[in-house]
Amino acid sequence: MQSQISISEAQALDAADPLSRFREQFIFPQHNGYNALYFTGNSLGLQPTSAKEALQVELDDWAEHGVEGHFRARHPWMHYHELFSEKLAAIVGAKPSEVVAMNALTVNLHLLLVSFYNPQGSRKKIICEAKAFPSDRYALLSQIAFHGGNPDTDLIEIAPRDGENLIRLEDVLSAIDGAGEKLATVMMGGVNYYTGQLHDLKAITDAAHGVGAMCGFDLAHAAGNVPLQLHEMEVDFACWCTYKYLNSGPGSVGGLFIHEKHHNAGLPRLEGWWGHDKETRFKMDPDYLSMGTAESWQMSNAPVLNMAIHLASLKIFEDAGGMDVLRERALRLTDYLEQTIEKVAEATSTNLEIITPSNHSERGCQLSIVAHGQGRELFEKLSANGVIVDWREPAVIRMAPVPLYNSFEDIARFGLILQDSIN
Ligand SMILES: *Cc1c(COP(=O)(O)O)cnc(C)c1O
Repeated sequence: MQSQISISEAQALDAADPLSRFREQFIFPQHNGYNALYFTGNSLGLQPTSAKEALQVELDDWAEHGVEGHFRARHPWMHYHELFSEKLAAIVGAKPSEVVAMNALTVNLHLLLVSFYNPQGSRKKIICEAKAFPSDRYALLSQIAFHGGNPDTDLIEIAPRDGENLIRLEDVLSAIDGAGEKLATVMMGGVNYYTGQLHDLKAITDAAHGVGAMCGFDLAHAAGNVPLQLHEMEVDFACWCTYKYLNSGPGSVGGLFIHEKHHNAGLPRLEGWWGHDKETRFKMDPDYLSMGTAESWQMSNAPVLNMAIHLASLKIFEDAGGMDVLRERALRLTDYLEQTIEKVAEATSTNLEIITPSNHSERGCQLSIVAHGQGRELFEKLSANGVIVDWREPAVIRMAPVPLYNSFEDIARFGLILQDSIN
């Protein structure tokens, strides 16, 4: 049977959408002289065309000014991290004083747990989702061990029910209630990296607070993907990386959020000179005087060369009109991908099971597809035809149409290739 995937229909959808023009601001890997069909922005976002120049500016200013670039560079390095406050606040729904770009994701998760995981008496358990991204699990288990707890019993992992792929909110909430006064901290992925499930951050945060626990999220797959309201939801803490949906380059600087109510509340914290009050930082006082904002968690001066690319990338999010505008396009693209996969399934009589929730409020732009009955040859055929997706054994395709640079045409072309590649 013929599917009705139509390249010209997809091109018409692209032509009608003013956001389509942002695609030109990104560099696509090439396949036989054409742009590859790149759907792995959930893993490493594409390079903005402005990245090279942003980096060159800092290299030139370093060449010209040497150490004086701290004050005389076009973006003086002394205050470099401050250039991110407003932009990151807009991405995650925070006040500028609640966010800071620093370190890398797992490092920041540990630093946050130093403040937000304080096991005391019988209140020492952590709740997270089962099959969290491994690095997060390692961080949580090693924090428990570091505090002298029992990693076998102090980490409660919420799994999908038997035969299901997704975690039910009611199961998270009842685990939180069940742990009650024994619960110190909830720390979950905002969007699950494997299934693409977007959790209800507000309900989880409220439940954690209801039993007197702290609540934070790893937003690696949420920041730059879905609009967030961390401040309003009273999330206690969050961290994210910037090389996935935030397109800031491999291993680029991480980001974190700390709700303002905690800034001066005397939480334990590991400190360094860049968290010291900036007015007197260079008096080199032996005693630490806190910045009094999320910047107090900063330790080191900014890695300007990688942050230059992050800054260039965040500017594109602003130019596009911000997360709400991008979200609207992301939903349309992802729905279109879902319909395309359904057409291919029908035309090829294959079971292409989308395990990501179909409900908009429970997903970002990623879809995870189980290609039942297919094997690695499918992935190899897709790759040979210029399709870049993530493949996990046994037969899971993870892919994300990213609103800043993927097009409806990319999706239609993918659909035709997928159809030809299925036996
Ligand atoms: C990508 C990702 C990481 C990677 O951690 P790094 O410290 O940046 O290497 C960690 N956790 C989650 C949930 C991720 O998606």
